[in-house]
Amino acid sequence: MFDELFDEILDDRHTHRHSCNKTDVTYAKLDALEAKSKAREASTEVTYLKLKVEKLMIITEALWMILKETTKHTDEELKEKIRQIDLKDGKLDGKVAAELPDKCPKCGQILQKNKLNCIYCGAEIISTDVFKR
Ligand SMILES: [Zn+2]
Repeated sequence: MFDELFDEILDDRHTHRHSCNKTDVTYAKLDALEAKSKAREASTEVTYLKLKVEKLMIITEALWMILKETTKHTDEELKEKIRQIDLKDGKLDGKVAAELPDKCPKCGQILQKNKLNCIYCGAEIISTDVFKR
């Protein structure tokens, strides 16, 4: 659907109907081409991410099946644990919202996410929760 729209925009016959000059038309075409390219890129990325999510779902399911078969844990326990984690941010909405960033234990400045050291004082950051959002 979008491809057809872009092709229509890029079609010479279509652009001749407008009274704008050739330079404007050329820039508009270049902008449209760039937008088309970015849309394709985003679409490819979404497809790739969907595949990765599906693969993670399969791995998670396999791990759960192994755990269930080798321990006494039940589906009910898993559901309850999922519920508890979902509620970490106070909302039962299928996701855990990003938490406030920690403060540096040495200088008290707000820490940058995914940094191994405080950017203000250089103190080494030892994360306590590996699942912190
Ligand atoms: Zn610091």
